[in-house]
Amino acid sequence: MLTGMQIAVIGGDARQLEIIRKLTELDARLSLIGFEQLDHAFTGAVKEKLDEVDFSNMDAVILPVPGTNLEGYVETIFSNEKVILTAEMLKKTPDHCTVYSGISNNYLNGITKEANRQLVQLFERDDVAIYNSIPTVEGTIMMAIQHTDFTIHGSNIAVLGLGRCGMSVARTFHALGAKVKVGARKSEHLARITEMGLTPFHLNDLGKEVKDTDILINTIPLQIVSASVISKLPAHTLIIDLASKPGGTDFRYAEKRGIKALLAPGLPGIVAPKTAGQILANVLAQLLQDDLSKRKGKIK
Ligand code: NAP
Repeated sequence: MLTGMQIAVIGGDARQLEIIRKLTELDARLSLIGFEQLDHAFTGAVKEKLDEVDFSNMDAVILPVPGTNLEGYVETIFSNEKVILTAEMLKKTPDHCTVYSGISNNYLNGITKEANRQLVQLFERDDVAIYNSIPTVEGTIMMAIQHTDFTIHGSNIAVLGLGRCGMSVARTFHALGAKVKVGARKSEHLARITEMGLTPFHLNDLGKEVKDTDILINTIPLQIVSASVISKLPAHTLIIDLASKPGGTDFRYAEKRGIKALLAPGLPGIVAPKTAGQILANVLAQLLQDDLSKRKGKIK
């Protein structure tokens, strides 16, 4: 239980509602900033304006998945209020206050450092990334179906990268009956791809390996699907780029060649916001519980 914890939940989309639901169930007291247009009320959660918040008693600050933008704005889809998080606000929090976000950037790193508060990026955790790969794959399947006139079953699919996303993508498309090959650079990844019953290839051979590809799915956050690679793809190939913005594809060249290339960021929040929110809520609840237990241990 999180009884006695005071937490500021600042901005966010439908995923944040699952976090609010979970934390209020665990008896935390929440200040909701950027939620005034939300019809639903949660017992134990109070909607507040940013300038009304008493940061001096906050044990934690929870930001949406993107954290802030580079000017400090926090995305608030349930509000028209402009919410900017500053170092001054964080400095008012107690020393033990932790800031949670999905990812970070120079601005958020800068203000948490200036205020000397710990920043936890949930998407850096393996467990979150692996759970998140499940709705990501489902979103990828949805895009493959929407943007092709052939079945996934029987088609040639090349997946780039055998990380947390790549592995789930490759496994699921294989299970749907596609002929899946996976490109990686590490010998242990090539071994794992073979063990999974898929066709491995080294990324050095990417140009040679994509000649018969129907769908190319990239998970490598690096300009890897270059003009030279795209020039070797059949004209009907669909490229789905899952890597974080700006993706790993030369989109300009793909368009020039008439090859459909889609950058597909944030699929979990689009196709399964409830599940994506629950993934974050469960991990956050555990982290907050650990934090509370640690502090209680110190006080004893
Ligand atoms: P990950 O586990 O770190 O996997 C990244 C993959 O890229 C690994 O196979 C890694 O191989 C490879 N890689 C990285 N740098 C490379 C390089 N210089 N050359 C060759 N290969 C390289 O990350 P993930 O969790 O799978 O996420 C992959 C990407 O998808 C990230 O950009 C993430 O933000 C994004 N993502 C998008 C969505 C969405 O909805 N679109 C959802 C979740 C994640 P090595 O081990 O050899 O480095």
